[in-house]
Amino acid sequence: MTTIVWFRRDLRLADNPALRHAAAHGPVVAAFIVDETDPRPPGGASRWWLHHSLAALERSLGAMVYLSGDPLTELCKLVGETGADAVFWNRCYEPHAIKRDKAIKAALADAGIAARSFNAGLLAEPWELATGAGEPYKVFTPFWRALSARGYEKPLGRARPGGAAPAGIGTRLDALDLLPSGPNWAAGWNRIWTPGEAGAAARLDRFVADGLAGYATLRDRPDLAHVSRLSPHLHFGEISPRQVFARVDWAAGEDAALSPDVEKFRSEIGWREFSHHLLYHYSDLPAANWKDTFDAFPWRESAADLAAWQRGMTGYPLVDAGMRELWRTGTMHNRARMVAASFLTKHLRIDWRHGQAWFWDTLVDADLANNAAGWQWVAGSGADAAPYFRIFNPTTQARRFDPDGAYIRRWCPELATLPDADIHAPFEADNGMLAQAGIRLGETYPEPIVDHGEARAAALAAYGTIGAGRG
Ligand code: FAD
Repeated sequence: MTTIVWFRRDLRLADNPALRHAAAHGPVVAAFIVDETDPRPPGGASRWWLHHSLAALERSLGAMVYLSGDPLTELCKLVGETGADAVFWNRCYEPHAIKRDKAIKAALADAGIAARSFNAGLLAEPWELATGAGEPYKVFTPFWRALSARGYEKPLGRARPGGAAPAGIGTRLDALDLLPSGPNWAAGWNRIWTPGEAGAAARLDRFVADGLAGYATLRDRPDLAHVSRLSPHLHFGEISPRQVFARVDWAAGEDAALSPDVEKFRSEIGWREFSHHLLYHYSDLPAANWKDTFDAFPWRESAADLAAWQRGMTGYPLVDAGMRELWRTGTMHNRARMVAASFLTKHLRIDWRHGQAWFWDTLVDADLANNAAGWQWVAGSGADAAPYFRIFNPTTQARRFDPDGAYIRRWCPELATLPDADIHAPFEADNGMLAQAGIRLGETYPEPIVDHGEARAAALAAYGTIGAGRG
């Protein structure tokens, strides 16, 4: 029995139930399809990652069939061309993917083809957890308690699929056109990132060796290397949360002092699960305010302010460092994401959906569930969100979480020679100090595009115009 394994966001051989079950049945045809019906196709940075991750997967498998179009049509054609009698895949949880996969399963069944799907990407299916009242969870802590109490399945070993590479079917990886054309904004990214299963495993090993100890307290410091940077690997399924849990639990078993760090780290992956739970139950999470009172929020439209934020030219160094890190590397530290997102939605009062769209295009870990939940959390419109009236002061945040200004110096080199006391707020430095550091505000580095105190007052006034709503 020949089985097509339709790879999507499970780009690995280990702990891959669809691949493992297919390999147990006989020859495997490994396929990847660029879904041209997806209303939210991956952004530029994700496409860069996807290209390299597929190249790594192809090297591990020996062969891949690449297709592009409507997955239903393409899969039916591939079944005909290969004589396969089954199609297996691992589930995705975006609203479009759920609808598409249901239709494909039904069409394949009608054609007498066995279609089976598996869970490879989450610790628990989003429909498996419910409150005592049978409702979806809306608050993280009880969700996490329920998820933790279930435990998790042991990861599966590496699949060893057999099967001949079908000649002349599909196209080449290069022809999918996933890499940037024109200016190569991703030049050098291969030195920062290693997409693929081996890169994910190496990243986890490095984190366990060098970053995990101290994670609980130091994960908030963008100037330090105490986060895992596993998010793109998890998004593309180059490693599973079960594998990550098994690895860090093993580390805690070897060294009990790591337990608080492991617990905190596991709970961050819990937020990933919670975001997927929310997206599954509230499918308009990326488009609509979860709290509908925010539908009346008087957002500002300002193309100039949005562009200044995107380019890292707001005049607030921590915001600018984060936005420039994003553009230069395809990622941004979580603390900087929170401060930059808060600045957009509160100081500039620009609709969170503009920020979400920019992140979607520029993040290598852009993920519909995590991105939507992250933005709605910061904007105050989401489930279990930060209250809108808690407005981050970008200068205080910078002093607290980047105390020596190392993160700011790395991404805003024009400020590098300012002393530690001034680096977080050059607009408060005296003229002599600025002159000594070679800084001319408004020329070499922007003046703040808004005054913190005034922006805060305006944001609170705008918030005062909307009611209480769902919560
Ligand atoms: P670590 O601290 O090492 O955490 C381990 C893993 O836990 C991460 O890889 C990630 O999978 C998960 N995780 C950690 N924090 C969160 C969180 N707050 N929400 C959900 N999962 C989390 N994360 C994405 O993966 N994709 C996104 O598109 C995304 N957009 C975001 C947008 C905003 C406005 C904000 C505030 C956060 C967003 N996040 C997103 C969450 C978080 O910033 C990243 O997951 C994290 O910075 C990734 O770095 P890391 O792998 O080093 O994290």
